[in-house]
Amino acid sequence: MSRSVVVVGGGLAGLVATRHLAAGGADVTVYEQGETVGGRVRSHTADGYTLDRGFQVLFTGYPAVQRELDLDALDLQRFNPGAVIARPGRRSVLADPLGDPTAALDSLRNPEVTLSDKLRTLALRQHLSTRSYGELFEGSDTSIRKYLLNWGFSDSYLSNFVAPFYGGITLDRSLATSKRVFEYTFKALSDGDSAVPADGMGAIASQLAERARSAGASIETDDAVRELTRKRRHVVVDTDCDRRAVDAVVVATNPRVAARLTGTSAIPTDGIGCVTQHYRLPDADPLDTGKRILLNAGDSEPNTVVPISEVAPSYAPDDALLLNATFLGDAVLDTDSDTLAERTMAALESWYPRRSFDALEPLATNRIPFAQFAQPPGVHESLPTVHDGGRRTYLAGDYTEWSSIQGAMASGRKAAEAVLADY
Ligand SMILES: Cc1cc2nc3c(=O)[nH]c(=O)nc-3n(C[C@H](O)[C@H](O)[C@H](O)COP(=O)(O)OP(=O)(O)OC[C@H]3O[C@@H](n4cnc5c(N)ncnc54)[C@H](O)[C@@H]3O)c2cc1C
Repeated sequence: MSRSVVVVGGGLAGLVATRHLAAGGADVTVYEQGETVGGRVRSHTADGYTLDRGFQVLFTGYPAVQRELDLDALDLQRFNPGAVIARPGRRSVLADPLGDPTAALDSLRNPEVTLSDKLRTLALRQHLSTRSYGELFEGSDTSIRKYLLNWGFSDSYLSNFVAPFYGGITLDRSLATSKRVFEYTFKALSDGDSAVPADGMGAIASQLAERARSAGASIETDDAVRELTRKRRHVVVDTDCDRRAVDAVVVATNPRVAARLTGTSAIPTDGIGCVTQHYRLPDADPLDTGKRILLNAGDSEPNTVVPISEVAPSYAPDDALLLNATFLGDAVLDTDSDTLAERTMAALESWYPRRSFDALEPLATNRIPFAQFAQPPGVHESLPTVHDGGRRTYLAGDYTEWSSIQGAMASGRKAAEAVLADY
């Protein structure tokens, strides 16, 4: 008889775990409290616009992304490497000359970054190319800021480029995050592209759910798990609509719920938030960033503006541009939507002094108090493992690896392998 397993949570970690459990012969059901799967990676469509919940992209260089997804089926819309550094009255392209030779000259001439810093970037890229992804989590840790200063990068490089770009990835512009996150994402960006699926980031979760169903799994949405009662021979799972006893449970919720359901104190519960606002700009000329994001070199209000429909035309109707702006820091979670829109408009008008952005129309504001768990230097050593959830209970979720799509997917596979090995 096949073993019965419940997976709690239909985010990327839970969906990957579900698929591998089902493929391994388990009788598996995932309970997801939301109306749809995807967790922190979701999209919704309205009036012809595709709005991802918060700005995030898929790094095709992530090993778990290559292993778990059919990238061709996602019809990826790729960003060009690098970014446009923006400040009042000035915009300049900083591209990766190896990844985008057509922008090499612009990059070489970029006034925001010294030639020494550009050469150091190439040396860092070479250094990281000799290390495996696994090795990046070994050895001592420090903050991104200290790590780059130790490498000899200048303060101006850190504030003009690294703070808005990697601060946008870590949601921490102070660069106090673990250097491991920097190294991993820097290497992934050298090894692959950043992209969004033509149907939105939520298509990633849809594909994983489809693969899990095809492998024989059941997915119950709108049904939260309230309690787990661990017995010697089974676990009793109480959900909003159901009560059942199963051989094993994989807890793949967000970290705070996982800590409550399992009582595991090693689960990190400090979160970092952000706010992303989406806008339409009707009948407008393109922002002409060459499929790159705009980095705010001055401040974090907003940290980035992304002309997303120039990268992924399928995100908007033909007669309008779709932009998003992301604001960092806890204070911004309480800032009203009109104020945020005014700040984006003011930033854009200062970066494009000859253009008016009066027609910028907010479509939605995503306030995300817990987008990633906080990752100060050293945090990864203290994270729980797949086996730390207690009897017959396995942990999956970014909080067992590092806060990312890579961490979530890798954790799901590990949890499934652990369950299949034990039963
Ligand atoms: C705005 C934003 C930007 C980001 N930027 C990047 C980026 O650029 N690159 C990157 O790699 N990563 C990024 N991330 C992080 C990445 O999205 C997450 O690390 C990853 O998606 C976490 O997946 P997960 O499956 O571990 O957890 P989650 O996505 O949190 O999934 C947990 C699921 O459990 C469900 N759940 C919770 N409680 C219960 C319950 N009691 N019963 C049933 N279900 C429950 C939730 O509804 C959710 O669906 C970003 C995240 C956000 C939000």
